[in-house]
Amino acid sequence: MSEPSPPPSEPTRNDFIRQIVRDDLVSGKHTAIRTRFPPEPNGYLHLGHTKAICLSFGVAAEFGGDCNLRFDDTNPAKEDPEYVAAIKEDVHWLGYEWHELRHASDYFEVFYLAAEKLIAQGDAYVCDLSAEQVREYRGTLTEPGRNSPNRERSVAENLDLFRRMRAGEFADGARTLRAKIDMASGNINLRDPALYRIKRATHQNTGDAWCIYPMYDLAHALSDAIEGITHSLCTLEFEDHRPLYDWCVDKVDLVRHPELLAPLTAQGLPLEAAKPRQIEFSRLNINYTVMSKRKLMALVKEGLVDGWDDPRMPTLQGLRRRGYTPGALRLLCDRIGISKQNSVTDFSLLEACLREDLDSRAPRRLAVLNPLKLVITNLAADHEAMLSFANHPKDASLGNREVPFSRELWIEQDDFMREPVKGFHRLMPGTEVRLRGVGIVRCDEVVLDGDQVRTLHCSLDPESRPGNAGAERKVKGTIHWVSARHALAAEVRLYDRLFTTADPDDDSDGRTYRDYLNPDSRQVVTAWIEPAAAQTAPEQSLQFERVGYFVADRRDHSAAAPVFNRSVTLRDVWAKQAAGK
Ligand code: ATP
Ligand code: MG
Repeated sequence: MSEPSPPPSEPTRNDFIRQIVRDDLVSGKHTAIRTRFPPEPNGYLHLGHTKAICLSFGVAAEFGGDCNLRFDDTNPAKEDPEYVAAIKEDVHWLGYEWHELRHASDYFEVFYLAAEKLIAQGDAYVCDLSAEQVREYRGTLTEPGRNSPNRERSVAENLDLFRRMRAGEFADGARTLRAKIDMASGNINLRDPALYRIKRATHQNTGDAWCIYPMYDLAHALSDAIEGITHSLCTLEFEDHRPLYDWCVDKVDLVRHPELLAPLTAQGLPLEAAKPRQIEFSRLNINYTVMSKRKLMALVKEGLVDGWDDPRMPTLQGLRRRGYTPGALRLLCDRIGISKQNSVTDFSLLEACLREDLDSRAPRRLAVLNPLKLVITNLAADHEAMLSFANHPKDASLGNREVPFSRELWIEQDDFMREPVKGFHRLMPGTEVRLRGVGIVRCDEVVLDGDQVRTLHCSLDPESRPGNAGAERKVKGTIHWVSARHALAAEVRLYDRLFTTADPDDDSDGRTYRDYLNPDSRQVVTAWIEPAAAQTAPEQSLQFERVGYFVADRRDHSAAAPVFNRSVTLRDVWAKQAAGK
């Protein structure tokens, strides 16, 4: 739906992170909490990010704190303002408001001063090894690394070289600034990791002001400290980086060295340096999909999908265009919860969350996707009536609408069987079915065109019409219809899962996710819809009764040329397939 509903904030959610936050507030360690969501603007947000967003923004809201949106933009070659804009839009769409919008690049001058401080303390040095040599010197999981020949450079020489790195005296990659920690550490991240590199690239925020850029670990830890983040929540792959995170925070110690923040105070940025604590949780993985930005980028670049917002993409833009709602995605995050346990969430849970969210809210409409003509022979040729239909079976507040009815209707081909199979309760030659809101019709004659069923001639039992004595008469099936004379043609895009295999990331047999693309993941049909369905705002969700949940395409739909995307079927058709139907 177009109206974002506010994020739920019931305090009943509980998990180990919320427990830590609660304890920190009770013990007085913190009087207020602050979190952040730190995407790198090198692609569009995907479903996985939803988990991180709901957690960091959710925790802040539940405990009366706040959450910053920070662009972790330390890798200029891959970043772009297009992604920055999309990420902001997506976070808002999910229903969250950030406290401050920041960029790691806002802090470049502070990082630089911090690096000089580390050098002055003897905690960092300029290293002349090439990237390849650094790898050789690093050692392995079982072997310690070797010290760089430059490790014992004097503070004065290091400062001079680092300043000249900044001044652009050296070629890209010629030197790095490295932390002086321990080349024999069991944690490879602590073997004198790089803190700064030389890279000439125009930065999406700072342009050409810099030719040296801080590495992730330094930038991330210090950004958290600068912003006064109390709980820095991230995914499990950063667990091994936590000792380095703590090293950066402690060695620079912004709390006791506020003078390092002078460049920001000059910019007027409010600052509350604190010692942040990093806490890791498991990523969201979903089967039948790929979620790494690199692979999503490849799908787009190779034209395997129609862009980042292709409704089959697990990007937030794609999900939104598909008809996923913020409420459904937040519900998913609530259902999966937060833990340190890695797991794979079933795609059907995502779909179930959407059905649950839409069931209570989506207005009902009539649409026929696969039309078969049905003529009611005992009505006059010019018979016309407006029938009143409730917009929602359980919510009278959604009101009623008028649905035009006439002698010639479209019904779904699937609702008729000439030679019915056992258990088929819809329309068959000589039997009766209820036409939704109209009454009971009997199929008297099947008009064929060769082998094809062309038209059904039916008679309507006048006594079965609403308000008449026989209206309650029972028949086994009820089917939907639209009036052929009044129906409008609509383009309907029937989307399905993008991959045919549960684990498209598995390339152990040499096949990659590209080999598992579902050829039927998009079918386009022309459907007949009742007039009211065309009068739908872009991005409004509807239930086409008995067919599924659909959304008016936010880019292509108009009342004059309706376009709907299937968001989800009414039932889990994949479960039936799995059960061997
Ligand atoms: P990808 O691996 O898809 O390229 P990323 O981790 O590089 O994603 P970032 O922009 O760095 O993307 O992520 C921002 C935040 O979102 C990080 O804190 C990261 O831990 C979190 N995040 C990314 N993917 C997931 C996921 N699948 N589940 C939960 N959180 C995630
Ligand atoms: Mg990342």
